[in-house]
Amino acid sequence: MDIKKLEFESIYFDLYELNSGIFAAISAEKVPTSNAGFFDLGNYLVVFDTLMDPYSTVDLIKASKQFTNKEPSFLINSHHHVDHLFGNRIFPMNIPIISSFEALLEAQESLETRLKDFKERAPAEIKKTEAELLNEKNPNKRLELKSDLNTWNEIRKPSFNLRLPDFIINDSFTLKGTKNQVQIIYIGAAHTKGDIIAYFEKDKIAFMGDLLIEKNDPSWATATSGVPFPANSTRLRDTLIKYAEKEIETYVPGHGNLCVKQQLQENAEFYNKYYIKKK
Ligand SMILES: [Zn+2]
Repeated sequence: MDIKKLEFESIYFDLYELNSGIFAAISAEKVPTSNAGFFDLGNYLVVFDTLMDPYSTVDLIKASKQFTNKEPSFLINSHHHVDHLFGNRIFPMNIPIISSFEALLEAQESLETRLKDFKERAPAEIKKTEAELLNEKNPNKRLELKSDLNTWNEIRKPSFNLRLPDFIINDSFTLKGTKNQVQIIYIGAAHTKGDIIAYFEKDKIAFMGDLLIEKNDPSWATATSGVPFPANSTRLRDTLIKYAEKEIETYVPGHGNLCVKQQLQENAEFYNKYYIKKK
């Protein structure tokens, strides 16, 4: 497989074409910034996950149009966490947002609290970001701070809302395009209560969402906040082992750089050691 890094200017991610028409947006530097992708299936353009900062999702859509000459047909949320779903509201309402039933439920349950928290934090964050901007000289960092400032100002508006998934699945399915096809695989409870992944069997590529994270940190297992505890560590480990055994060459993680089988084995071992054996 010939992975190409593409010329695309974004302060948020590097863009790769993994195989013809299969693109990954990788933001390796910053945590908790997440990865996303888009797939040109011929007659359909499918976007897989959004990014935390609304402006990074604007860049993602711009890249998808520039490299495929198409408008997005579907958006998929791999799971409900806000770093993958925050950009949903940038997509026009006539574009269906696909997620599992459990992801929708979890989004409904958690986003209201999240939104309230964002709105409460907005005035202080605006102050802090304005102060940082005054002292920042690095042009990319300045751009990022300005985007953050715009985001917090948007959040503060009463009209600000997050868009939830509205095309709800309970099982796996295949999106067959005129040029390529992708299997949208329903995993169920693993990283969250309702994870889905995208699998290109012929191209030997899988977009794993947060089932796969390039580098895990043992301190997460004992952290009381910040890092979510897996909904089902055993299924998470078993899914990683199952997908490591498949004929796949490139795995796109939810966070970090592009992965190969080695990282799936490391992730499986990580969950085994720190979450499963502990019980
Ligand atoms: Zn997540």
